[in-house]
Amino acid sequence: MANNGKLAGTGNGNGHVQQAVERLAAQTFHALDSRAAIEEAVKLILINVGEDPNRDGLLRTPQRVARMYEELLEGYHQDLQAVLNDALFDVEYGEGEMVVVADIEYQSLCEHHMLPFVGKAHVAYIPRHKIVGLSKIPRIVDMFARRLQVQERMTNEIADALEEVLDPVGVIVVVEGQHSCASLRGVKKHGVNMVTTAKRGEFRTNRDLRDEFYRLIGR
Ligand SMILES: [Zn+2]
Repeated sequence: MANNGKLAGTGNGNGHVQQAVERLAAQTFHALDSRAAIEEAVKLILINVGEDPNRDGLLRTPQRVARMYEELLEGYHQDLQAVLNDALFDVEYGEGEMVVVADIEYQSLCEHHMLPFVGKAHVAYIPRHKIVGLSKIPRIVDMFARRLQVQERMTNEIADALEEVLDPVGVIVVVEGQHSCASLRGVKKHGVNMVTTAKRGEFRTNRDLRDEFYRLIGR
């Protein structure tokens, strides 16, 4: 929460607004009531950018934003075991064959600006003893995407999670992302497409495997 020293500097010349800001800033919220706390925080933002949170169009904005964050950040309330829900199976697949899941769309929020970055993830692994239900891989991607992220870390977390649950011969994850914090703030207006990779096991050392993967995902 902002402190009073900082709030005193808002200087908007409106005593009512100033009082409201101080009243909101003085409140503390129980963690269980995080939706209410986020709503209050959004009101503070509205006031401090010079808005009136009581005007018609903004009345329900704090509630909407709080619910939006619950949805976009639901990954904090998920864990790998719950997502997998025992959808692991013994290998009946040909030895050393690659399992590829390409074009997994994701939406995330960058942790530096809390602005969206979106794109696609491509995942492959080579089973050793176990395979995972194919629908689970997009859910693992989602679990990590729906947190405050940097794309590099998210890419590594997906690879590490698959390594942890499958103990595969190798894993590779390629993530493409368009970052609205870059495009909105004028770093580059168009074509901001960042690509990050994480390789584990055989994909680290075997170039032919990597080439096959890139061919299969059409890159
Ligand atoms: Zn950012």
